[in-house]
Amino acid sequence: MRLRQPANRMTDLEANQGARSHQSVLHVPREENDILYWCPACKSQNTQRLSTVHMSGLSQFSAITGGVGWTGAPAIGGAWTTGTSQTQLSAIAAPPPKKSYRNGLLLLFLSPLVAAIVAEVAFLIAQRVFGTTLIYEQLATISFFALEIGAIALLLRVFAFNKNIWPRLFREWQMSFLCRRCGQIFVPGSAP
Ligand SMILES: [Zn+2]
Repeated sequence: MRLRQPANRMTDLEANQGARSHQSVLHVPREENDILYWCPACKSQNTQRLSTVHMSGLSQFSAITGGVGWTGAPAIGGAWTTGTSQTQLSAIAAPPPKKSYRNGLLLLFLSPLVAAIVAEVAFLIAQRVFGTTLIYEQLATISFFALEIGAIALLLRVFAFNKNIWPRLFREWQMSFLCRRCGQIFVPGSAP
């Protein structure tokens, strides 16, 4: 007891001094840093990295869905609001999505079928409107090749986007911040 009291006072004093000097040393550069992360729209310092907003929103949402499953119907209303606002914020802060090859591939593989349908429809319309009969096989072949070309063009566009444009969007997202006061999304250090 006798030994501990002065020892405590010493450490308290040291801690105070330490904290004060720690603060003064750390405070100056931190303020400088903070200026960079100020919201350009409202000058609020209440900003957060977009990726962090996105991830925290995701984890919170999954916790809430677990609660919905467990508590049942009456809790859904209550959980719904928080769940939705979290997801909306998380969705706003979501990284830019890569484009999907699904539509292009689907069109590529379904083009024989789609071509047959297109040819059938064109055949019937031509018969009704013009009274002439177009050759069904030719229509089918033409629309098949048109669809194939369309599908390949679509796939090439998706490929070009994912390879050339998406990485830039993703880097931009990684550097972006969200203002928690006014909702402005900005890249620190750049003009709004
Ligand atoms: Zn703001």
